Amino acid sequence: MNRPETPSQAWQAILAGNNRFVAGDPAHPRQDADHRATMVGDQRPFAALFGCSDSRLSAEIIFDVGLGDLFVVRNAGQVIAETILGSLEYAVEVLQVPLILVLGHDQCGAIKATIDSTEGKLKAEGTFIHNLVSRITETVEQAQAHGISGIDEITLLHVQDTVNELIARSELIQNRIESGKLAVVGAKYELSLGAVTPVQMLGNLN
Ligand SMILES: [Zn+2]
Repeated sequence: MNRPETPSQAWQAILAGNNRFVAGDPAHPRQDADHRATMVGDQRPFAALFGCSDSRLSAEIIFDVGLGDLFVVRNAGQVIAETILGSLEYAVEVLQVPLILVLGHDQCGAIKATIDSTEGKLKAEGTFIHNLVSRITETVEQAQAHGISGIDEITLLHVQDTVNELIARSELIQNRIESGKLAVVGAKYELSLGAVTPVQMLGNLN
């Protein structure tokens, strides 16, 4: 595979890889020792992925890609933080990725923990778990105010809020989208099927 250079080419490569994974027919490309050796001096990933840390969301597996293909940033519940913004700006500015994929998923534990927290049911001993939950709380409360209470529906809203926050806070990313050099896609991953479906697409994907 030649490296996808445009947002559209990158998105098509992501979709094609995910389709192979869904069909149970992965190619496991660029995972061998020879390829590893060619990658030592440089990396030229074709997309950045910002997704949930969930152990069932393994980036290279679900998109059937290999070493050097994806620049991956993950935390529980894919919550924007300054270090996340810095990592994604690095991927865009220095590594010149044409696509950022923001990936949430059904049955997300971070969303569930936030719902439990708003209902007074979260019993977390760790001091910093609340930092994570507090960043999703606004989305959960707004959803609940509109009668939306399911984890998976709230996850979709959280993916959209995450994309919006990413763009609102990073002028670099805004400018790259406007210039046509970058697209940002918010998507959901379905654990049972392994399928990735876009929920929000920004930038020139034609
Ligand atoms: Zn999750």
